[in-house]
Amino acid sequence: MPNLKKLIAKISTDYPNLSLKSGSRFQFTPPSTLFYDPKNTEKHADLLLLHELGHYLIDKTDYSSDIELVEIESRAWAKAQEICPHYDVQYDTDFAEDHLDSYRDWLHLTSLCKNCNLAGYQDSAHLYHCPLCGATWKSRIKPE
Ligand SMILES: [Zn+2]
Ligand SMILES: [Zn+2]
Repeated sequence: MPNLKKLIAKISTDYPNLSLKSGSRFQFTPPSTLFYDPKNTEKHADLLLLHELGHYLIDKTDYSSDIELVEIESRAWAKAQEICPHYDVQYDTDFAEDHLDSYRDWLHLTSLCKNCNLAGYQDSAHLYHCPLCGATWKSRIKPE
């Protein structure tokens, strides 16, 4: 079980402007709040926290398409990997890939037209359009 307290203390020292708060899950909320779940005792709780710190460090939360959202996720994991040695945390590629897969699966499903099962394209208002039947739909709630 990772020592979250120690990790939180080190992050607070490194980033005094970031506020770390306990919550029901690990989440970065712009501009500078990092929530952590003190009850989460899973093996990779420390990595989840570094992933959320990664979101803070890459400083990109706005996205113009669902594809871009998945790119941001991927960048936040890359950032987590980069800072792992500094925090003495073991990076786990499989764990990160599993998380990314849930986003990729979501991206695939949310882009499919319910009538034709064809992938639609997303416009600047985040609305999907089917190239065949012309149906439009909003993207589904993104995974956690
Ligand atoms: Zn993320
Ligand atoms: Zn269609």
